[in-house]
Amino acid sequence: MIDPDVLGVEPWSVPERQLRSDLMAQTESLFALSNGHIGLRGNLDEGEPAAIPGTYLNGFYETRPLPYAEGAYGNPEDGQTLINVTNGKLMRLLVDDEPFDVRYGRLIRHERVLDLRDGVLRREVEWISPAGQGVRIRSTRLVSFVQRAVAAISFEVEPLDDSARLVVQSELVANEPTPEQTTDPRAAAALRAPLVAEHHSVNDLRATLVHRTSASGLRMAAGMDHLVEGPNGTITDCEVEPDLARVTVSSELEPGQTLRVVKLLAYGWSSQRSQPAVRDQVDAALAAARRTGWDGLRKGQREYLDDVWDRADVDLDGDPVLQQAVRFSLFQVVQAGARAEGRAIPAKGLTGRGYDGHSFWDMEMYTLPVLTYVAPHAAADALRWRHATLDLAEARAHELGLKGAAFPWRTIRGQECSGYWPAGTAAVHVNADIADAVRRYVNATGDEAFEENAGCELLVATARLWRSVGHHDTEGGFRIDGVTGPDEYTSLADNNVYTNLMAARNLRAAAEVSVKYPKRAAELSVGHEEIAGWRHAADSMVRPYDEELGVTPQSEGFTRYRQWDFEATEPDEYPLLLNFPYFLLYTSQVVKQADLVFALYVCGDCFSLEQKMRDFDYYERITVRDSSLSAAIQAIMAAEVGHVELAYDYFAETSLIDLRDLAFNTRDGIHLASSAGSWLVAVAGFGGMRDHGDRLTFAPRLPSRLSRLAFRLCYRGRRLRVELRAESARYELIEGDAVELEHYGEVLTVSPDRPETRPVAPAPLREPAAHPPGRSPPRWHRET
Ligand code: BGC
Repeated sequence: MIDPDVLGVEPWSVPERQLRSDLMAQTESLFALSNGHIGLRGNLDEGEPAAIPGTYLNGFYETRPLPYAEGAYGNPEDGQTLINVTNGKLMRLLVDDEPFDVRYGRLIRHERVLDLRDGVLRREVEWISPAGQGVRIRSTRLVSFVQRAVAAISFEVEPLDDSARLVVQSELVANEPTPEQTTDPRAAAALRAPLVAEHHSVNDLRATLVHRTSASGLRMAAGMDHLVEGPNGTITDCEVEPDLARVTVSSELEPGQTLRVVKLLAYGWSSQRSQPAVRDQVDAALAAARRTGWDGLRKGQREYLDDVWDRADVDLDGDPVLQQAVRFSLFQVVQAGARAEGRAIPAKGLTGRGYDGHSFWDMEMYTLPVLTYVAPHAAADALRWRHATLDLAEARAHELGLKGAAFPWRTIRGQECSGYWPAGTAAVHVNADIADAVRRYVNATGDEAFEENAGCELLVATARLWRSVGHHDTEGGFRIDGVTGPDEYTSLADNNVYTNLMAARNLRAAAEVSVKYPKRAAELSVGHEEIAGWRHAADSMVRPYDEELGVTPQSEGFTRYRQWDFEATEPDEYPLLLNFPYFLLYTSQVVKQADLVFALYVCGDCFSLEQKMRDFDYYERITVRDSSLSAAIQAIMAAEVGHVELAYDYFAETSLIDLRDLAFNTRDGIHLASSAGSWLVAVAGFGGMRDHGDRLTFAPRLPSRLSRLAFRLCYRGRRLRVELRAESARYELIEGDAVELEHYGEVLTVSPDRPETRPVAPAPLREPAAHPPGRSPPRWHRET
């Protein structure tokens, strides 16, 4: 956990006023900078001390063997692991021959600030060397949103009292040692020094290193260039060898004088391009960065983010801690997705190596629902990446004896990398999630070109999968058996309601799009019979129901499973999957994360409000939230069924998951799904926004702690702003033509300069929901 006083509370930044060496790993993740293409962990400029050094390039991985004790048909043989590439963040400093190192000498001041509007990490240090020489260091780091191959660092040093000899060594280091990522010796060997040197060159203050990976056959180049300002007598030198490039700047400064080194960094990588081509790509990116200059890069960054906040900001009155957290969370979503362009968005963004850098359904069901409404172009790019992996998904379906496409549960490049079938490939709902993300994106943007091409192919391929995964039983019902829903504490279950409802929606969407684009459908060999088959399967989808309890079982028979003995479960036995056998988990009524409750949200048009209330309360008692993906969805549904204060507790949990390290693993990277969840709770939870049908619908409800909550979104070429107060909701069109929305079922037309204000209906009065003993969310509104 990170104590509440470690990070300052500011509306537009995250300051750390004092270096906490015990929290180094966590702050490296929190202060990571990324644009979705390149990611730099928040390691100190001087490289040490570091917990996990990290420089990541989206899609740059090494393959490694996946070990199995027993073979089985269809097991993936190779895993993919994001690797730490050439480190360009290093700026070592020597003060009168002593290395600047916070572990030695005296640290008078150490402040780091992640600035959410400038998009930079600033650091200010005052340090007295063991020999008594004082220096002030200021560094500012950015990963450019505008020039996606570029990062830059401005590094300034000045002596405090006496003149000092200063040497700055700016470096590129390949194959730097990092803590082992795995205990499997074969995989560890593959990842230990993953880069094989191919080329190194130097030209004045510019140096380039080119490497490739052994097994995955990817090639990368890292380049750096420098702009140096120092007093007369400042000298520079540059040297290079296969795994190291170093520019040395040496000077003697009087107090009041400053040595400034601006380092421009560029990365390029490819699975196909030649070594000279990748090298030249990086040189070109550096030339462009040099032309833009440090001030230009800073300005571009600010303008880019001003535009983002203008489209996407959530501002609220009544809780400064969550104001900061919701913005930090949105910043993470933007960092992860803004410039991913044709590559996946991993569960940790590019902030750490957790989950091996893989992408999961998190992308389509958490990250893209946010990007669709705040940066739709980025949502389209991510879906285009899925589409680009369609051939691999078709091959996987074929391998499994299925039709259409079977997208991977976890992957970097597109191949299935999950070696555990029950909580891997069996979580076949990922295919319906992809289809739903297509539907949502097209609905929110009206992007018909996308719909007709990539969209249509994705919908058709996934619909075909469902028809082969499921079957009509003797009574005609369409069953989907032996699958795992979002709750990984129940697996290989029959007729998981989330999966079935999402599959039905997928089948209908494929039918609609095929009718809308007959030419395209014909090219994909979709005929009338197939369309009728999809509709028939969707209409006869089995949906279990427990008449006696009046509750929807999350899968067939679930409500008859044994009860979990929560009273006998000790607090340190969570997460349960590390402390109890799967047999017990899989046969008990204990839920890892929102599953049926997720269906109540995304397929909310299939349930009555009364049913949602009963189901929510039922599952709330048995959901332990062993996955950080749970709280946001529970919050959204809690708000809808009238547990608004509980929704607020969950809002805090999802928004603070990393700023407070609530899941105890922020060291491995931020939890992107939870970050996205923060925006979703504000908009879908308290704003009650749903996008099931042809127009956006709202059913707002504000928790007592907030006196105001406003959010913005993009919808079919418009920009909207919604402002909630305890008693009213105001809908405003910031840009674009009049649009129809729904407020509690009333259709409103919001026109330019004509905002609409409506009263907010009071929430139904509910008894507080029960939780598993010991697993209630902390009562957030009482903490502050
Ligand atoms: C969750 C999955 C999720 C994965 C990556 C797991 O713990 O159960 O639903 O996709 O984490 O975030």
